[in-house]
Amino acid sequence: MNTKDLSVALNTLAYPGLTRTLGELKLISEVKVTDSNAFVELLTVSDDSYLTVKSAIESAFHDQFTSLNITKKQTVQKDINYGNSATPNNRAPYAANVIAVTSGKGGVGKSTVSVNLAIALAQKGYKVGILDADVYGPNVPRLTNTDLEKIRWNDDNKIIPCENYGIKIMSVALTTPTSDTPLVWRSSVAVSALIQFLEDVAWGELDFMVIDMPPGTGDIQLTMAQELPITAGVIVTTPQLVASDDVSRAIRMFQDIHVPMAGLVENMSFFVAPDTGTRYDIFGSGGGARLAERYNIPLLGQIPINMDIREGSDNGEPPVVLGSDTLKSYYKDIVEEMLKAMKFKI
Ligand code: ADP
Repeated sequence: MNTKDLSVALNTLAYPGLTRTLGELKLISEVKVTDSNAFVELLTVSDDSYLTVKSAIESAFHDQFTSLNITKKQTVQKDINYGNSATPNNRAPYAANVIAVTSGKGGVGKSTVSVNLAIALAQKGYKVGILDADVYGPNVPRLTNTDLEKIRWNDDNKIIPCENYGIKIMSVALTTPTSDTPLVWRSSVAVSALIQFLEDVAWGELDFMVIDMPPGTGDIQLTMAQELPITAGVIVTTPQLVASDDVSRAIRMFQDIHVPMAGLVENMSFFVAPDTGTRYDIFGSGGGARLAERYNIPLLGQIPINMDIREGSDNGEPPVVLGSDTLKSYYKDIVEEMLKAMKFKI
């Protein structure tokens, strides 16, 4: 097999698990065969895809050559910027502003808030994308009624984001066969996937990229802060958790990694009885305000626990689009507060 034969064969080899070839994905940078020694240089984005492609090539061609040397081209791709969030990389130069939404614990309504804030921004005329980075509980597709969509590529080999309710949407959930398939990923793999979603998705120019972060204070939050200049952090909590260490840790982590804080959203804050209109502060009142004061960040708003929010969200009908005017106003008012609290590039 000479250089030309190997080059043709490599370009027609399928990427493991995909219907596209290495040639179509433009992953082969250089091929050289001298005597029976082959050299192949790959243009892969992440270490994981490099190792995947390398072993596919090795198993297809190892018996054809005395030596088969496969390397990864050192590209203009930035290396992962471990350890520095004060001068982060910018994997999303197309986004004028990046808003990261996080929480101390799961189940507080972080994804619901992320989606409705993203849509409320789009309703004001901004170009908005939402990246579901909650790799261990990716709910954004369900909340935006895009959960039956599958990943599609455009002619430039970029992933086409889903679109609904005026926003562009990308989630790891779209890579799994069904929405309840668990992602059994190490955090390093999750981080590579998210970086790919920042770099290889055809987002177009965005005024705002909203990132629905995983809850807590792990690798993924840290890496995102190192890989993106986050313009604003939003913390979502519930009143029963305001005094917990989890939420304090989430706020302190953002502060420690130099993410400017837009503020706090207290979700499921109170209950208004639908029959009588009486308001009940089930978990007391003022907790969110006290927490915001303690960390010197704004309280952006309080959203009640409400059956229509629950039902609409779980049916892919966001309350900021399809809810009552009162429900819409909770999210719209938070967006106004956020725009007041931070200097965004708009
Ligand atoms: P997280 O992202 O924090 O895990 P989700 O946004 O997935 O949380 O919300 C968890 C559940 O709570 C969902 O069933 C959602 O519909 C519901 N939920 C969120 N906010 C509210 C609210 N204000 N009132 C009632 N239910 C809510």
